[in-house]
Amino acid sequence: MPDAPIDAATLRRWDKDHLWHPFTAQKDWYAVEPLVIDRAEGAELIDTEGRRYLDGVSSLWCNVHGHRHPTIDAAIRGQLEKLAHSTLLGLTHPTAAELARRLVELAPEGLTRVFFSDDGATAVEVALKMAFQYWRQKPDPEPDRTAFVALGGAYHGDTIGDVSLGGVDRFHTMFRPLLFPVLRAPIPFCYRCPLGLERPGCGMACLEEVDRLLASHPGTVAGVVVEPIVQGAAGMVVHPEGYLRGLREITRTHGTLLIADEVAVGFGRTGRMFASELEGVSPDFLCLAKGITGGYLPLAATLTTEEVYSAFFATTAEGKTFQHGHTYGGNPLGAAAALATLRVFEEERTLDRLRPKVALLSRRLEEFAALKHVGDVRQKGLMAGIELVRDRESKREFAWHEQVGNRVCRRARDYGVLIRPLGDVLVVMPPLSISEEQLDRLLDVMLRCVREVTEGTAG
Ligand code: PMP
Repeated sequence: MPDAPIDAATLRRWDKDHLWHPFTAQKDWYAVEPLVIDRAEGAELIDTEGRRYLDGVSSLWCNVHGHRHPTIDAAIRGQLEKLAHSTLLGLTHPTAAELARRLVELAPEGLTRVFFSDDGATAVEVALKMAFQYWRQKPDPEPDRTAFVALGGAYHGDTIGDVSLGGVDRFHTMFRPLLFPVLRAPIPFCYRCPLGLERPGCGMACLEEVDRLLASHPGTVAGVVVEPIVQGAAGMVVHPEGYLRGLREITRTHGTLLIADEVAVGFGRTGRMFASELEGVSPDFLCLAKGITGGYLPLAATLTTEEVYSAFFATTAEGKTFQHGHTYGGNPLGAAAALATLRVFEEERTLDRLRPKVALLSRRLEEFAALKHVGDVRQKGLMAGIELVRDRESKREFAWHEQVGNRVCRRARDYGVLIRPLGDVLVVMPPLSISEEQLDRLLDVMLRCVREVTEGTAG
């Protein structure tokens, strides 16, 4: 006999008694009854009471083909019948080898080596450590190349290395005393340009700043780290066209490495399999996680070039080994989910079928842009940010304590839509598989809630 399901009230009590939530002010958490998600289907999450919610943020920006996709479910089940876990330490297994091969086929040219780990933070951490070590042991070593350039508003994960790169005060300031220093380049954020300039007259001065930064630190920069095309946690900041291409050229000119963190933008989110493709860029490192398994299981990959790999290609005695690894890195279940996820991209022509949804999102965002308290809307592919402001003219923000973004999202829940804000930027990031009808409904609810909360209208 299966155990009787535990009722929602008990689960809520156990949660409050013991569970410490990520990025959460626990005292605020105690003030509301948490939603207990029990099941999911396609673009919908279902709570213990059977209520359905449209998943407007793809769980944690990771779901691609919807929840409970039959192909991915079957692949994981099939893998489970054979092998739940083995390791890539001293052994290999079929799904990891096949996935490495498949990722290399899909990735921008020149990325031929795949190092597996288990989440986005470690995918970037691996790139940092590899880049650092690369300079020490390449044929003509440049051991002074130890510094990293990161952008304002950068978010690359929560390990100490990634937090060092981080440029979001709310997440990162607390840990400063623990961190290594980085060279900070201005965020290419045209709505709130840190250089006080305007497009197109600015001539992309933010890019020139990177050039200047590298020129003033000759031979000491190990790599420049960027979230290509869209900086997610900074507030869905869409970079101006040509920025990534420019960054690639500048890093080449100064002989340093380009590390592309596609943890959030990879796997179709921007309309292409990888965002770097939008500008024809091949980085030296490509960091992947989140959507790699369709949002099912923890798995991540750091891809790099033969050039980097060859600096590590040596015997034990030569002491050039990359001394890094994770227990669940490249685990068979995750790799099986990833292979199935990539197969679904082909079988369902996910990227072709995304186009009308992207167009629909663009059209509907115009309605948001016309609202009194919307300062800016930013979109690339099926990811968008809607920035709420107190005053459009001056771009003045709402006070933090007003929690406007949170209140809009809380309200949306009452109408059966789950979204999460980044401060007062509303994120629109549903599974790529969402139907046009569902996307319309998601945006209807969001529009209504923005008006209710910011204009006090009754809907
Ligand atoms: N890089 C980027 C750009 C991200 O958006 C995130 C997560 N939101 C990470 C890295 C970290 O990924 P993870 O949460 O899987 O560690």
